Amino acid sequence: MAGKTILILGGGVGGLIAANELRRRLPQEHRIVVVEKNALHAFAPSFLWLMTGDRTVEQITRPVRHLVRPGVEVIQAEARGIDHSRRCVEADTRRLPYDYLIISLGAEMVPEVIPGLAEGAHTFYTLDGTVKLRDALRVFDGGRVAVVVSALPYKCPGAPPEGAMLIADFFTRRRLRDKVDLHLFTPEPQPMPVAGPLLGGAVRQMLETKGVTFHPLHKLTAVDPQTRELSFEGKEPVRYDLLVAIPPHRGPHLIRQAGLANEAGWIPVDRATLITQHENVYALGDVTAIPIPGRWKAEVPLMLPKAGVFAHAQAEVVAHRIAAEIAGPGVSETFCGDGYCMLEAGEGLAGFAFGNFFAEPSPEIQLRKIGRAWHMGKVLFEQWWLAPFGLRRETLRLALKLGGKALGIPIVL
Ligand SMILES: Cc1cc2nc3c(=O)[nH]c(=O)nc-3n(C[C@H](O)[C@H](O)[C@H](O)COP(=O)(O)OP(=O)(O)OC[C@H]3O[C@@H](n4cnc5c(N)ncnc54)[C@H](O)[C@@H]3O)c2cc1C
Repeated sequence: MAGKTILILGGGVGGLIAANELRRRLPQEHRIVVVEKNALHAFAPSFLWLMTGDRTVEQITRPVRHLVRPGVEVIQAEARGIDHSRRCVEADTRRLPYDYLIISLGAEMVPEVIPGLAEGAHTFYTLDGTVKLRDALRVFDGGRVAVVVSALPYKCPGAPPEGAMLIADFFTRRRLRDKVDLHLFTPEPQPMPVAGPLLGGAVRQMLETKGVTFHPLHKLTAVDPQTRELSFEGKEPVRYDLLVAIPPHRGPHLIRQAGLANEAGWIPVDRATLITQHENVYALGDVTAIPIPGRWKAEVPLMLPKAGVFAHAQAEVVAHRIAAEIAGPGVSETFCGDGYCMLEAGEGLAGFAFGNFFAEPSPEIQLRKIGRAWHMGKVLFEQWWLAPFGLRRETLRLALKLGGKALGIPIVL
């Protein structure tokens, strides 16, 4: 059989897992090629620890090439066009042919779509933004801090409450907590609405314990960086001294141009197989739009959250399906909608939620008591993710697997 080329666009969470799983399963005559525009990969869950000074940039970034198995080709270039009829991708000056295409390009941050936001806000949603926020937090000596989810959808529904709680903790450590008035605003009716009222109530409780005032149903319309004022649809304006925003997200330009996106700008896929409407073209992770059972308003269907845990599981499914199609004997492995989240609460503690997001009539999410084990689990996962291939990585993998098993939770690795 002639060697096949599997081209993977995006060397983030989904792209790296897909590449490594394919390399593990396919003989060397088949090429696994990752196209990634950045030379460095940053582990996004650790942005929160970078913000509080508990990590350095060096500790949470790695060259993309160090995170792939030997035999995976990494091309550092920006993918600019997909030609489905010729089965090739334009990447900078190169034309890259494929037999199978996996699109894992994530989401773009577009703060500029809300007036004043780009000029007025800090963020912990990008590496550079987090470094600037860390420096701003270090010199902030009191006033109102507003953490604002500026638009839906956004990745990692747990990150805004986590960020607010870790900022609270940061000022406690600096002995400034009583001088900081901390607020969390979101257009949603509760924290993490996709996970249901029980979990939302528990997260609200965690925020209250940390002295964070939660403001649901606040849709940001504009920021005035001069007067430091936030405008919300149908609400009174709010003054701030330090603004920390989760910027609006958008599907990458490339997928809209390639005719792969729906009206909202994301790629619809078969939720079980992740195949798109094009033959041999898969999409996974944040770039996809996957409706799930249930709604949080009559007219708003629930969508699968954009989270690394799903990108990871979906990448494994896609890799296994492609490998089985190429090398036989064929497999029926599908993405089942299971997911979990370790929610950092500060002081070395975290909550843990997990469940099935495809459950009918709405996702069934369980919550475990807040504790040190979940925080340790998140640290272990970070260490595993950033470790090069070898003994250390395998040991961490085993520790996580065994820990997950002992605690009765399904950890995908
Ligand atoms: C602060 C924060 C905390 C988070 N915490 C968690 C958590 O605890 N648990 C969890 O499950 N998820 C978490 N997430 C979300 C998680 O990081 C994302 O959901 C996950 O990275 C999505 O994986 P992906 O492969 O779809 O996209 P990404 O990981 O974003 O990868 C996309 C890649 O495509 C590349 N790219 C984009 N366009 C091009 C192009 N044209 N050409 C070439 N390359 C391109 C990008 O550079 C990037 O490397 C968090 C996110 C943030 C911001």
